[in-house]
Amino acid sequence: MKRIIFLLICSITILSVAVFASTDSEKTVYITFDDGPTHNTPVILDTLKKYNAKATFFVLNDRITENPDLLRRIIAEGHSIGLHGSSHDVNVIYSTPSKPLEEMNKANENLYNTVGFKTRLIRTPYGSYPYMNLEQYKILKAANYNLWDWTVDPRDGVGTPTIDTMLNRITNDLKGNENPIVLLHDRKSTANNLDSILNYFSSRNYTFDVLTEKTDPVNFMELYGPARNKSG
Ligand SMILES: [Zn+2]
Repeated sequence: MKRIIFLLICSITILSVAVFASTDSEKTVYITFDDGPTHNTPVILDTLKKYNAKATFFVLNDRITENPDLLRRIIAEGHSIGLHGSSHDVNVIYSTPSKPLEEMNKANENLYNTVGFKTRLIRTPYGSYPYMNLEQYKILKAANYNLWDWTVDPRDGVGTPTIDTMLNRITNDLKGNENPIVLLHDRKSTANNLDSILNYFSSRNYTFDVLTEKTDPVNFMELYGPARNKSG
């Protein structure tokens, strides 16, 4: 009898470990970098490679022009490309109903002329809502763009936060977050801290994946803005 109980306990333990492991292994994190490519991109790419991690780069029009080889390297190493517009100025890109679309189209032409393809993935500067209005959003959607914001924000672009501060912010944002989309920037301090950030996710069994045109976009317009609960 004791032996049966022992075996039963063993089976339950193995079963629960297996269930836990399978749930754990399904966690995916989407790391994203805005504002590149810049001279910091090589360090970012080397660190991603170290963790066999794929990420998504929302690139700026001028920086495509300035750093075409870095853009090509991002693509060659299996990362995903989205657009971040051209002006990077809230007073410009959100100034007229069609301006966000115009900026994305301009960057997309430049992308096409540089690497031979276009993308439907976009992220507007500083996040869509509250800067963007519903009309601008509808125009972008009608042009088939997928607008992405984020769900995890270590605020790496505000001042120069320490890695501990950023990891604390990540931990807080991850609570109850089944779809972590991490906002990072193509800048020196982030490049230098990226190893610790990737190690944080890797040690918690996250798989790194890219955003694609097939992924349903997550954005503030739909989550909190005027597009909420409305179709179109
Ligand atoms: Zn930006």
